[in-house]
Amino acid sequence: MNDTALTKLPSWLEASQSEVGELKANQALSHALLLMGKDGGGQHLLATQIAYDILCDQKQLNSACGECHSCRLNHAGTHPDYHLLDGQEGTIKVDQIRQIITKVATSPQVSHAKVVILAQAASMNINAANAVLKALEEPPSGTYFILTADASSQLIATVRSRCLLINLPEPSSAQIEEWFSGLDLEDDVADIQWVTKQPFTLYQLAKSGRSLLYKDVPENIDKYLQGEMSADLVLSKLDSKNSADFLFAYSALFHQCICYSTGAYVPNLSQIQSTLDRLLNRLGIHKVMDCFNRLQSLNDKTRKTNLNLQIQLKSELIYWLS
Ligand SMILES: [Zn+2]
Repeated sequence: MNDTALTKLPSWLEASQSEVGELKANQALSHALLLMGKDGGGQHLLATQIAYDILCDQKQLNSACGECHSCRLNHAGTHPDYHLLDGQEGTIKVDQIRQIITKVATSPQVSHAKVVILAQAASMNINAANAVLKALEEPPSGTYFILTADASSQLIATVRSRCLLINLPEPSSAQIEEWFSGLDLEDDVADIQWVTKQPFTLYQLAKSGRSLLYKDVPENIDKYLQGEMSADLVLSKLDSKNSADFLFAYSALFHQCICYSTGAYVPNLSQIQSTLDRLLNRLGIHKVMDCFNRLQSLNDKTRKTNLNLQIQLKSELIYWLS
């Protein structure tokens, strides 16, 4: 991750870092933190920064010094007391949790503490969550757990209640604009602002070239609703690697449709307005809401099980017009 966008803490998360840093410097930091904000708002970067702050040899400082042995190892990505399980890469399973718990059961190797980041912790299956719960009840000494979760995700309540909750603020439009202006990606993200407000998600879509897939979605759905395109043709570019993108795009489009029907602000409205009008005319607002909820629950299920999204999405498209 050489990209400065992915290594420098964005301005809207600085206050949250200070809040945790102060607790740390006063030796009042909880052994379990839950960073709750929107996915794509930068919570993973904040979790990493807090981990570096905790592992820094200068215990009395609020934030990492950047110069000590621990800081240098963290910068190189080779700190043996830093552990990460990333739910974005798929379901977090109980064996992965057990392996990490075994590792942190011993004394720290370099630092005075050990840190375990569970990113997108709602991706833990129930057995994994129970194993974490046990560890949170009796944390191995000197071990800090940092969980991140989307506010709308279904992280089990017993895990939640064991953590110090840090609610992350959403960036203002000005903060997002300032952040993107340093990245030279404004052209690539300009047309897909309807997909999400979350800057890191937009950034990754543009950077990976996947923004093209999203740009096509409103027009293809419009044609599908008019009977000019079959469900198979709409989904012809769908494969196992991008199926989550299709699901994300459809959810976003239905979400914007609901906002549009209430008169709320919709980004890129001129580009997607005809599709939104067509959805409302063809399905009606109640069915639009129903379809949106179905897409959301499909998303939740996908995180926890190995659903075949290609089949599921086709049946959603057919349901819209049923
Ligand atoms: Zn340091």
